[in-house]
Parts: sequence; structure tokens; C-alpha cells
Amino acid sequence: MILHTIDHAALFHTTTVAAGYPETVLGPCRSTRAIGRFPADTAFSLVLINAASLRMTLHAEDDVERDAVATVPADEAGLSPQDLADEVFFLIMRGHSMHTPGCTCATPMRPARRRQLGLAARAAHQGVTCRLGGSPRQPITLDAVARELGVAAGQVQAVQTLLQASGQFQCDGDAWALRPVLCQTEETLWAFVRKHPLGVFEDNALIQGPQLQRLVARLVQQGRLVARQDGGVARLFACQPPLLRVDSEVQALWRRS
Ligand SMILES: [Zn+2]
Repeated sequence: MILHTIDHAALFHTTTVAAGYPETVLGPCRSTRAIGRFPADTAFSLVLINAASLRMTLHAEDDVERDAVATVPADEAGLSPQDLADEVFFLIMRGHSMHTPGCTCATPMRPARRRQLGLAARAAHQGVTCRLGGSPRQPITLDAVARELGVAAGQVQAVQTLLQASGQFQCDGDAWALRPVLCQTEETLWAFVRKHPLGVFEDNALIQGPQLQRLVARLVQQGRLVARQDGGVARLFACQPPLLRVDSEVQALWRRS
């Protein structure tokens, strides 16, 4: 899979950077590699980088190129197919692109990947609950996935292959959704969590489904599951035999001892 990159720290030698979103401006700089029609080590007086389009405007001494792109193979960028599938998973969970104006969703992406997609300048907003969460979901089409991953032109087939090979997704009309999962009932969810003694995060792709919250609540109530907050996400542990409730008198005795 070939991906766009606008990681200016990797593409240019420069000390003059006005980082912003969607536009980052570089002052005088030199390219570290061939970009657009310019060879490596070209001097530019100005470079405008747009995170929304993943394109650049390059001002060389006597020439200007608009809509220039730089690309990198996914494996060279240290991204495995599962890393990309995870990004699609979070896109489907959000229901909107991280490039939607006003989006403040947090992302588990590594810093290098955020720079590659021009999302690093949004980091200051992370941790604020995204107000787009309650908005209608955007259909997650193949084009929307390709856009979110920053996939280069002509790679739509590669995106489709990635989605199918991951086993996590299914196509519903022309939109992609999470595949119905292993854990549709209290028993299957409990059996799944029990197989993972270190716990299962509630956002694990394999347990997602419309009933998840209800199933977790029921199992917690029955004392068969414990949910602990861990880094902002509930981590689920199965209890066997079921956890016994301790009444207040026993708790008081324990505290006195
Ligand atoms: Zn958002």
C-alpha cells in the first residue's frame, strides 16, 4: 500500500516552520528526497502544506508546483496491515473523519503517523470530548477509508483487499461497517473475556456490537465481570466463580481490622 506523507520533518531540512491545521508553512528549506517534479536537495523559498488535501505547493527559485504529493510505502513507514485496519476500526467507531472541521477526537496513532497525515497540529485539542459524536454518521465508503488512511491515487483495490483480509469488516451497501462479532450474548461475551486473563478492553474490535453496553452491565450486575477504568477505556475481567457481593457490615469489619 502506497501512502501520502506530509511529514515536513522527514521531507525537508528547515528551521522555519509555522505549524497549523490545515496549513503548515515552511520558510526557506531543502528537500531530503524527490518531491513532485523536483529532485532531492532542491532549495525552496516557501512550501505550503495542506493537511486536508495531503498536498503541497512548492515555491522553488524560478518555478512553482501546486498539488505536489510525496508518497511512502506503508511498510517503510513502519505500518503493518493491522495498524491500518485499526485506523479503519477507529474511523468506523467515530463515524466521521478526523479531518471534519470541529473534530477533536483523540487518536492512538503514533506521533510519526500523525505527522505523516498532518494531524500533529491537532494534538492540542485531544482529550476534549468531540462534539461530532452525536452527529449523524458519515457513510464509511471505500473513498472515505482511502482518504482517512492517506492512500495514494490508484490504490483503491489495495484498500479493499486490506479491509477484506483483516476479517474485521463487512460491506453494507457501499459503506463499510464492523463485522457482527463473536460476542452477541452474555454467555459468549463472558466466555471470550474469560480466555483473556489480562482483561479485554471495551473498545476491542472483536466484542463490538449494539448490545455491548447492555451485556457488560448485566454481567457486572451478576458479579461475573469486573470493569476497571484503564486509560479512559473500561477493561473487562471475567470472574469465576462469580464475585460475591460484600455487605456493608463485612466491609466495616474489614476496614476496622
Ligand atoms: Zn471527532
